[in-house]
Formats: sequence, structure tokens, C-alpha cells
Amino acid sequence: MLSAVPRPVTVRVPAKINLHLAVGGVRPDGFHDLVTVFHAVSLFDEVSVEPAEEPTLDVHGDGVAEVPLDATNLAWRAVELLAERAGRAPDVRVTLRKGIPVAGGMAGGSADAAGALVALSALWRMELGREELSGLAAELGSDVTFGLHGGTALGTGRGEQVIPVLARHRLHWVIALARGGLSTPAVFGELDRLRGGAEPPERPVEPVLEALAGGDPRQLALNLGNDLQAAAVSMAPDLRRTLRAGVNAGAIAGLVSGSGPTCAFLCADSDAAVEVATELAGMGVCRTVRVAHGPVGGARVIDEHEPP
Ligand code: ATP
Repeated sequence: MLSAVPRPVTVRVPAKINLHLAVGGVRPDGFHDLVTVFHAVSLFDEVSVEPAEEPTLDVHGDGVAEVPLDATNLAWRAVELLAERAGRAPDVRVTLRKGIPVAGGMAGGSADAAGALVALSALWRMELGREELSGLAAELGSDVTFGLHGGTALGTGRGEQVIPVLARHRLHWVIALARGGLSTPAVFGELDRLRGGAEPPERPVEPVLEALAGGDPRQLALNLGNDLQAAAVSMAPDLRRTLRAGVNAGAIAGLVSGSGPTCAFLCADSDAAVEVATELAGMGVCRTVRVAHGPVGGARVIDEHEPP
């Protein structure tokens, strides 16, 4: 009997923004304690894996020049971790199609790692449970676990402990992509410098969770907050102009996504998002804009070219 030729397995995985990001003190392992609310939005990377003679990594799409093609690529690290776990050689071709801005504070690399875990475990028919996949994800990086789950979730620890939260309604966003990137460790370093050893300020998460449960975007708009924003703006002062422009264009709130420099603008509804995006695009305050919605699901196998 002829065995079927394995076709690539393709996984689509979303970007995240942080609706709330409270950065605590530095831990003995050098990471900061975080309390965050992750929210997966409809900007996606696609990760395909297929058997190959030689381990191969291809990257396509926006910002590819900034994406490492060696063993430091997070998707490739996921492949090596899973190969080690399966006791197999990593003889696969991995193809990344980037729709998530690189070094944009939207966890694109982490998304690719989550996507690679799901794609390769499907290709190799490993039948790993969510728990096992989450354990592997946490080994790879703080945001990888959320990439698996998607939705809207509370993240604690260094972000790798993730539990879903009740979020009643679809939220409408305009995402402003910046011209350059910001290094996440450098932004945390800048925050430490700005704090100068002072105690981290209180930023309670409960009002955000209540607003999400209530489903009123205006209530949520009042409670969005990101401790890394001041540090990102200090390193990239033009962001101040971008944030102001989004609100002037009609967004009900704007914030820096994670460590930046991407900015996310919450809009009252989908029509408002289209209007804000159009106006923002003409203002020259960012490289490009995208309209997005959330929450969307985490990493999952798709048939190729399935629409979002
Ligand atoms: P973080 O997840 O650390 O907040 P980020 O979301 O700001 O980061 P990423 O797009 O994940 O940004 O990229 C951060 C850096 O990680 C890049 O500058 C790049 O050198 C490296 N990197 C490793 N693997 C990948 C990948 N698969 N895609 C994009 N960048 C990657």
C-alpha cells in the first residue's frame, strides 16, 4: 500500500495586546513579576511544518530582515524542544508567514513558537494534551503559553501562568504599526531606570476584569493601563504623538502594546474603527495601520488560506 505524502500542517496564531500590564519588582531570576490581561487580536502569523531532508527555516512577510534564521528563532527553538521530547531528529521545514509586526510588543516570536508546537505535534501525531503543550510553551518564553490559548486571559508569574477571563463582547481595535522596533529587555531596563529603585505603583487589575465582564468598551477604555508605556515612550518619544493622534481621530482609548512600539486604539464599534484607521493612516504618525478585533482563539491548525 502507498502511504499518503504528508502535506504541510499549517497553524494560524494571533498577536496579543495587553489590556493591563502591572510590572512588579525584579525577581532573583532577573524577570519581573507581572500581572497582565492578555487579549488576542486578529493579526496573525502562519506557521507551516513539513518533513524535509534537512532542518530548514523560511520566513516571509513584513519585517523578515529582522527575524533570525538560526537556532535563536523562537519557532525553531520550539521545534528543537519538541524533537528532543519525541526523541527524533528535527528533520522538518518550518515556514513562517509574518503578519504580526516584528519587535512590536505583540509577541510575534512567541506566537511562532506556540504555532510551531501545535503544528509539529500534529505533524508527528504526538497527541499532547493542553497541559503538556503549556508546560513546553512556558519553557520557551513568557508569552508562548498565551499564544496557545488566545482569547482574553489573566497572566501572572512572568506571564506564563494563564487563566481565561470572562469577556463578553467583541472589541474593535485600530493597531498602529511603528517604523522601527523596541527591544523588550531594553524597555524593562528603562522602566527600572525611571523607577530608580522606588516601589512599583499600585495598578489593580480588578476594574479591568469587571469592565470585561460587563462588556461596555467605554468602561474598559477608562481602565486600560500599561506600566511599560512610560518606558517605551521615553525610548521612542514619537509615540506620544501617535497616541494623541489616535484619540483625536475618535478612538475611546489608546495604549502602547506590551513593550511597544505598536499602539493599540480601542474604538466604540467596528464602524468607528474603520474611521479612526482611515484618519490615522493619513496623519503620518506611524508606518501603517490595521483594523483588528478581539478576542480571537489561540494557535490552531487551519486549512491553507482559510479566511480569518
Ligand atoms: P516580546 O515577545 O519579547 O515582547 P516582541 O513582541 O516585541 O517581543 P517579537 O516580534 O517577538 O517582538 O521579536 C523580538 C525579537 O525576537 C526580534 O527582534 C527577533 O530578533 C527575535 N525573534 C526570534 N524569533 C522570532 C520570530 N519567530 N519572529 C520574530 N522575531 C523573532
